Amino acid sequence: MKKPLKQKRMRFHIKKNDLVEINTGEEKERRGRVLEILPEKNQAIIEGINLVKKHQRARSQTKPSGIVTVPGPIHISNLILICPKCGKKARVKRDKIENRRVRLCKECGEIIE
Ligand SMILES: [Zn+2]
Repeated sequence: MKKPLKQKRMRFHIKKNDLVEINTGEEKERRGRVLEILPEKNQAIIEGINLVKKHQRARSQTKPSGIVTVPGPIHISNLILICPKCGKKARVKRDKIENRRVRLCKECGEIIE
């Protein structure tokens, strides 16, 4: 039997569905929800942020080809997590509670799910 490869997974301070604020560029201080994390690139897709035009091929008759606008990836280091409890830009502290890894907001001390 082959041993399954131990995958080294980077742990990010940002997770899917988090609300984040952009920390750089033209869209600085804009907020959006994380739609997707791209761990191999250390990037994330944020709803409505960094929109790029993409050519889409026709997939069916109801979805014709054309230019669509989709959010483009942003490097995770340029994102600040917004605490869902206090609404502030959260500095995240990692902790272990009852053997569960959790993120804690340093501003209000609440667990960020
Ligand atoms: Zn907080």
